[in-house]
Amino acid sequence: MPVQVTLLGTGTSTGIPVIGCSCRVCLSPDPRDKRLRCSCLVESEGLTILIDAGPDFRTQAIREHITGIDAVLITHHHFDHIAGLDDLRPFFFQNKSAIPCYAHPETAENLKERFSYIFQDKSYPGVANLDLYEIDGPFSIPGRYEQQSSLKVTPIPAFHGSMPVLGFRVGNFAYLTDTNAIPEPSLQLLNNLEVLIIDALRHKPHRSHFSISEAISISNRINPNHTYFTHMTHGLMHAEEDEQLPESFSFAYDGLKVKTG
Ligand SMILES: [Zn+2]
Ligand SMILES: [Zn+2]
Ligand SMILES: [Zn+2]
Repeated sequence: MPVQVTLLGTGTSTGIPVIGCSCRVCLSPDPRDKRLRCSCLVESEGLTILIDAGPDFRTQAIREHITGIDAVLITHHHFDHIAGLDDLRPFFFQNKSAIPCYAHPETAENLKERFSYIFQDKSYPGVANLDLYEIDGPFSIPGRYEQQSSLKVTPIPAFHGSMPVLGFRVGNFAYLTDTNAIPEPSLQLLNNLEVLIIDALRHKPHRSHFSISEAISISNRINPNHTYFTHMTHGLMHAEEDEQLPESFSFAYDGLKVKTG
């Protein structure tokens, strides 16, 4: 099953450049050193799936000419992954039907509180029309038309410090951001991957993100054909760091497109 992935953003929660910072990465003219907040677009079987809608979603959607979204998958409820949910509203101006939004039960609870006007009281006119589904195992996103086949998604439970987060697998592609621990049963769900996109914050260890060396060792256990790193800080200059990675590893960058199958 072919899958096309577009990296909408590959930066940590501040975005790169960091406001007010004049380090050499923040000042770098290389477009690969400009990192919007993490998000990813997955296209497969005629469906367009958004993973996370952060504060840069509007900019990302305009840059990539996104004209419709069939489902939203939420990895977890940190601001840099959900703050753009309201910017999905223009997709409802033409097409009034609700977009399904899938999340871990704990994330869903949090979304209901923070976006009560979207997920609880839909009476406010023009509000984003999202249907929230709590997931605890593989699920299918229905096709846009009756004849269109649905798309199977496998959630990959992981931890971000003590917070439960979800990665997602579609075909032979998997996306796992904001994590520093992938339990053994979840590793079993990541066999035979062509492409893995995984959190690699910086060189120095962090209590809720993989460092680069930790991301390399966990990826070696998963053993995909190619691994791309995301959610990077301004401690990493793309051109310098990318060439030091082992074969079959790369730093992702905003706008990068990757295909499987
Ligand atoms: Zn994050
Ligand atoms: Zn900086
Ligand atoms: Zn986070």
